[in-house]
Amino acid sequence: MNILVLNCGSSSLKFQLIETDLDLIEKNADAQKAKGIIERIGSQALITVQAAGKPAVKQAAPLRDHRAALDYVLRWVISPEAQIPGIRALADIQAVGHRVVHGAEKFVKSVVIDQSVIEGIEDCIELAPLHNPANLKGIYAARELLGTGVPQVAVFDTSFHTTMPETSYLYAIPYQLYRRHKIRRYGFHGTSHRYVAYRYREIAGLTREKTNIISLHLGNGCSACAIRNGDSVDTTMGLTPLEGLVMGTRGGDMDPSILEFLAHKEGMSLTEIDTLLNKQSGLLGISGLTNDMRELLEEEREHKDRRATLAIDLFCLRVKKYIGAYLAELGGTDAIVFTGGIGENSPAIRARICTGLENLGIAIDEKLNNTATGGKEVEINKAGNKLRILVIPTNEELLIARDTVRSIKDAPRRW
Ligand code: AMP
Repeated sequence: MNILVLNCGSSSLKFQLIETDLDLIEKNADAQKAKGIIERIGSQALITVQAAGKPAVKQAAPLRDHRAALDYVLRWVISPEAQIPGIRALADIQAVGHRVVHGAEKFVKSVVIDQSVIEGIEDCIELAPLHNPANLKGIYAARELLGTGVPQVAVFDTSFHTTMPETSYLYAIPYQLYRRHKIRRYGFHGTSHRYVAYRYREIAGLTREKTNIISLHLGNGCSACAIRNGDSVDTTMGLTPLEGLVMGTRGGDMDPSILEFLAHKEGMSLTEIDTLLNKQSGLLGISGLTNDMRELLEEEREHKDRRATLAIDLFCLRVKKYIGAYLAELGGTDAIVFTGGIGENSPAIRARICTGLENLGIAIDEKLNNTATGGKEVEINKAGNKLRILVIPTNEELLIARDTVRSIKDAPRRW
């Protein structure tokens, strides 16, 4: 089956076309046929599309909305220029899988989309006001352009974390606020943490129930996840993706009294503070330079920029603290896995995070660490180390495509 995987943001649409089915999943032989991203939807959009094994093609075009963006993608996918094997007409796309950010407590696993699922995703909008409406736009656009005969599946960022116990997901605020408004920690990046756990158990030759790791997704957004017996038992993001680690533009953990203090001292509204914490903090806020880790490392190397170093050090210390916290919470673990743009590509950051953790059985082999860049799966711990340390490039799209296939088989419902 050819599955179109969509990840719609407020002004962007990422896609992959993946060939997979139950047999290919079993053989681990799924194939990515094409991928691309459309940015700045709503104005002159920037389009990058790439068929497997061919160079990327960049273009610009006025694309009014997500429907127009998806229409562009579909026309390209079936066009003679793209020359994607097995794709000649829209009928060659058998299903669509969507990344949906927030499924709250409602969606504990991926589901075939029908009207009730759409209503469920709408109910979660107040918890993800920027993301869920964009995800819905992708669903509506696909329904309109591909027809109701093509099944669509929603794969939620939050689902993997629905196994967290109450002690991990509750905030210590009056319990009735949880009852009344479902204020709790949900966690995100679930599909990435689940993928990493799945790859780890394949590499280590373990069953799901024997999978015990701390997964570190370090990209522009960052989160750590404590995984016991294959299940997420704790994660660093909370009600929203703001909590936890230091990120590109998000500050992560802080004293909530800062909000009142800022409102008072700077005369800021709650909305302005929310923007400050989400968009102007983290690596960008501390360095005053950029949210991009690669650029910060360059600034540090070439200009010895003090605030670049400070931002990187804060970032690494926070990850280190959560490794310690999760080791305590899990009572030890078998492996630490790095993923995400920074986790997959930066030996320097991995080394800085792990420095000083030797007494906890965490020691990186410098040579192996330096080889782990550019999308390679590598084990980077020193020989004889208590814990395995791995770099596993994430692949959320593959899991979305696989979930799509499995969900359709389990519940072949239509609109
Ligand atoms: P993501 O959101 O997963 O795409 O990750 C984006 C982040 O990964 C940005 O901060 C990039 O600077 C960072 N990144 C990508 N490649 C490298 C690299 N080679 N070294 C350091 N950071 C990198």
